[in-house]
Amino acid sequence: MEQHIRIPEKEVPVVKETDVLVIGGGVAGIAAAVAAARQGVKVTLIEKSIVLGGLATSGHVCVYLPIDDGNGNKVYGGLAEDLLHVCIRYSQDNLPEVWRSKPDTAPADSERYMTNFNIPAAVLSLDEFTAQEGVDVVFDSVFSEPIMEGNTVKGIIVESKSGRTAYMAKMFIDASGDADLVYRAGADTETLKTIVSHWFHELDFDIMKRGIEEGDMLRAVPMRWLGLVPSGGAGDEKEDLTCDGTTTEGVNEYIRLSRGLALDFLKKNRRDDFAMISLPFTPQFRMTRRLVGNDELKYDDEYYIDSSIGCVISSLDKPATVYEFPYEGLITDKLSNVFAAGRMVSASGRGWAIMRFIPACVLTGEAAGTAAALAVKDECTVQQVDIRKLQKILEDNGVKLHRTKAMEGNKPKIWKLEKPDVEPGTPIINKYCVHVDPEGYRMAGDKH
Ligand SMILES: Cc1cc2nc3c(=O)[nH]c(=O)nc-3n(C[C@H](O)[C@H](O)[C@H](O)COP(=O)(O)OP(=O)(O)OC[C@H]3O[C@@H](n4cnc5c(N)ncnc54)[C@H](O)[C@@H]3O)c2cc1C
Repeated sequence: MEQHIRIPEKEVPVVKETDVLVIGGGVAGIAAAVAAARQGVKVTLIEKSIVLGGLATSGHVCVYLPIDDGNGNKVYGGLAEDLLHVCIRYSQDNLPEVWRSKPDTAPADSERYMTNFNIPAAVLSLDEFTAQEGVDVVFDSVFSEPIMEGNTVKGIIVESKSGRTAYMAKMFIDASGDADLVYRAGADTETLKTIVSHWFHELDFDIMKRGIEEGDMLRAVPMRWLGLVPSGGAGDEKEDLTCDGTTTEGVNEYIRLSRGLALDFLKKNRRDDFAMISLPFTPQFRMTRRLVGNDELKYDDEYYIDSSIGCVISSLDKPATVYEFPYEGLITDKLSNVFAAGRMVSASGRGWAIMRFIPACVLTGEAAGTAAALAVKDECTVQQVDIRKLQKILEDNGVKLHRTKAMEGNKPKIWKLEKPDVEPGTPIINKYCVHVDPEGYRMAGDKH
């Protein structure tokens, strides 16, 4: 039987009172905080690690997937486009030149509007960006529980080097990736286990030589991917290799399995011309827990969404079908002052896989941050936010709210799992990433 102990009541110091409080400094939290600050309200961002970027930096997912539809139309503008450029401000990139000046369209056969980026340079650039935008970032601080009054979050308890403290705010944005606040505040959520993978950077003299010959730094120091490629919500992931990212046991199991893959690899590749030079310091969970909101992403024939906060795509498809994400997918009637942002917004099945790509996370972050600032200024709940006002601000900032005529022809393409035509364990080398799939199956698109 589970044992419990009762903790004695204790006075907790209130260290901050702010307008908007963001939990989590991944790409979604950064976008939310910056968007709110741009509306002139006070913003604090609480981050449990010591770097910004979340999975995109400490999780080694340094691939900003396409923000165009693969037919020459830009789908994501606003912060989803700005953040791509912030990530590559101080490092090499492989952004196609045709997109560098941020045009709305490019020739239909253009390379995709995407880039790899250097992790340390992105972290430093994100530090600078958030500081310049007036966001108060507090590192090394873990949200643990909400302070509730009915269905309103009045504040949160944060554990840090200073001990247990309280942060009070008018509006909250849960960008923890795992819906920590939404769940603990009592809203409905769905959980999903994730397959194990492990990305790291390596030095291999042969590969490096090729990169040097081509003058391509990103190619000289590629990323290696061990583990299984996701099915994109097709539901074929192997049960025995899945872990629950919302429990201590699941996280530890994931870390043991994924680091085990890396250690096996190292043992087999103990050579003088090879070195592993980085490890992820965030477990690479794709989907863990999400809000079950008032609405969710519809990815069938439902194209026009009146309350759309922006267009999204499955970034791996070419051409990519363009969908619209409803405002109601960021909120729930169970909570009056909490928004979800990032890979934990309301989207089920394949829709969840679509909403977890970096550009979509930034889009929902921007919308949540802007809406939170509006709610502070208008002294209203998340349910009462003036959606037209929100849409106007987003649109003025470059967000594409609705599909254009040019984006309409793209037909949905469903991902297929394919047996690879190589022996399990054979490295597949593409330009910036080396895949090794020990189980011997992977998705059709071989890149991510
Ligand atoms: C293996 C893998 C490969 C992927 N490949 C790609 C790809 O190639 N391109 C792409 O676009 N997308 C890819 N994705 C998806 C994408 O990287 C993520 O979905 C996206 O970065 C999530 O951003 P986020 O801000 O929503 O969440 P996260 O990046 O998870 O950020 C959450 C942040 O909140 C913090 N946090 C969590 N809990 C707390 C707490 N209690 N208190 C305080 N802080 C907290 C975390 O430290 C973190 O910084 C991949 C994901 C994985 C796992």
